[in-house]
Amino acid sequence: MLPQPPVQSVPPIWKRIFRQNFRKWDALADFLDLSPQQRQSILTAPNFSLNLPLRLAQKIAKGTLDDPILKQFLPTTAESLSLPLFVADPVGDGCSRPSPKLLHKYDGRVLLICTSACAMHCRYCFRQNFDYEVNEKGFDNELALIAQDPSIHEVILSGGDPLSLSNRTLNNLIHNLAKIPHIKRLRFHTRFPIGIPERIDNDFLSLIGKAPFQIWFVIHVNHPKELDDEILEKLHALQKLRVMVLNQAVLLRGINDSVSTLKELCETLANHGILPYYLHQLDRVKGATHFEVPHCEGIALIQEITKQLPGYAVPKYVQEIAGEPSKTLLM
Ligand SMILES: *Cc1c(COP(=O)(O)O)cnc(C)c1O
Ligand code: SF4
Repeated sequence: MLPQPPVQSVPPIWKRIFRQNFRKWDALADFLDLSPQQRQSILTAPNFSLNLPLRLAQKIAKGTLDDPILKQFLPTTAESLSLPLFVADPVGDGCSRPSPKLLHKYDGRVLLICTSACAMHCRYCFRQNFDYEVNEKGFDNELALIAQDPSIHEVILSGGDPLSLSNRTLNNLIHNLAKIPHIKRLRFHTRFPIGIPERIDNDFLSLIGKAPFQIWFVIHVNHPKELDDEILEKLHALQKLRVMVLNQAVLLRGINDSVSTLKELCETLANHGILPYYLHQLDRVKGATHFEVPHCEGIALIQEITKQLPGYAVPKYVQEIAGEPSKTLLM
C-alpha cells in the first residue's frame, strides 16, 4: 500500500490574502500605471522592504505619486536623506527591555513585542530597525516576568503587529495571561484590520469574546481613505463584544497635515464609536525626515479642530520622549 499523504490543513483566508501583498516595486508601479519618470523616484532596494496589501493598493489613485496612501508605503529616494537627529532607535526602546520581547517603560503597563511581522510596512515606522528576537519561540520568560510583578495591570500586545500571530498562538497567550491575577486589561496595538480586515475572522472573535479581562483595541489609521465599510463592520463586531476600539494616528507631512483631513478622519472614527486617542508627533527615525511636521503646525491644527469637533473626537497630540514616564502632551 502506498503511504497516505499528510493531511493538508487549509490556511485561513487572511493568510492567503496576505500572500498577495505587493512586495515588488515594479509590480506595484505597473498596477498603479506609474510613468518611467515617476518610477525614477522609487527606492528599489530599501532596507525596510516594500509590503502593501492589495486592499490598500486598490484605494490609491492611478498615475500619480501624490496620494495619501501611496506616500505611506512606497519607498522613495527621499528616504536616503539623512539628518543627524534622525536615528535608528528614536524612542530609546533599547534601554527598557527586561527581556528581548518585553518593554516596561510606563507604570502598570508592559508592552510585549510578540512578533516582527506586519500586514504592511509603513515607511515612517519607528520600529523598522528594531532588533527583534523572533527566533526564540514562545513567551514563557515574559509571562514569568509579568507574573512576578504585581504592579503590572495591563499587557499591550505589539510588535510588529500582534494580529500576524495565529488564533491558536493568541488563544494560548490569553489563556496564560488569564492565570495571572493582577492582569486586568489586555490591549492590542494593530494596523492589520486596515490592510486585511478578513483577519477579524470568527475564530478570532470567539477567542476575544471568551477573554476574561477587558480588551482595548488600538488601531492605526492616518487618513480617512484607509477606511471602508468592511473594515468598520469588523470593528463593529468587536465593539459588540464590548471591546473598546481606539485609534492612533501619526501626523505626517503631505498626508494628514491639514484641518480638513484630520477633521474628516476624527469625525469618521467618532461616527463609528472609535475614539481618536492619540495623534503622534513623528518619531525621528532614520529615513523619515520628509514626513516631519513641526510642533507649532501640529498645535495649530489641533487648536483648529478643537473648535470644530466635540471634545471626545479630538485626539491628544503627543510625542514619545526617551526617558519620560509617559507620552508627552504637546498641547
Ligand atoms: C506608548 C507605550 C505604551 C502605552 O502608552 P499609553 O499612554 O498607555 O497608551 C506602553 N508602553 C510603551 C513602551 C509605549 O511605548
Ligand atoms: S503596521 Fe505598525 S509596526 Fe508595522 S510597519 Fe506599520 S507602523 Fe510599523
